[in-house]
Amino acid sequence: MLYCQYCRKKIDEDLVFCPVCGEVLVEEDTEWQEFQLQEEVDEAKDRANMYIISAIVLVTVGMMGGSILFISPSLLGLFGIVLVCLGIGCTAAADRYERKARNLKKQLSRCN
Ligand SMILES: [Zn+2]
Repeated sequence: MLYCQYCRKKIDEDLVFCPVCGEVLVEEDTEWQEFQLQEEVDEAKDRANMYIISAIVLVTVGMMGGSILFISPSLLGLFGIVLVCLGIGCTAAADRYERKARNLKKQLSRCN
């Protein structure tokens, strides 16, 4: 038994058209869909990693800059605090992309 990739109804394996929704069922299409989904998962993961690295760098550099404020108030110290804030923003973006990757992976496992 196979599932229609369009309406998700159970159908016979050797059918060319889905009897429920009438969509063309070609093997290559499913594989192509999976391939595209996998690409999207990889891209989302790459973005998430990129944001995590940016966040680490920004927060580390920002903390170093910010610590100058304890010694003397300076523009560099304020700049450090701005960097830390940007870093926190990056972790939020990374989280969004990680969630996207997870959702896409769920979609992918439904295909198989
Ligand atoms: Zn169908």
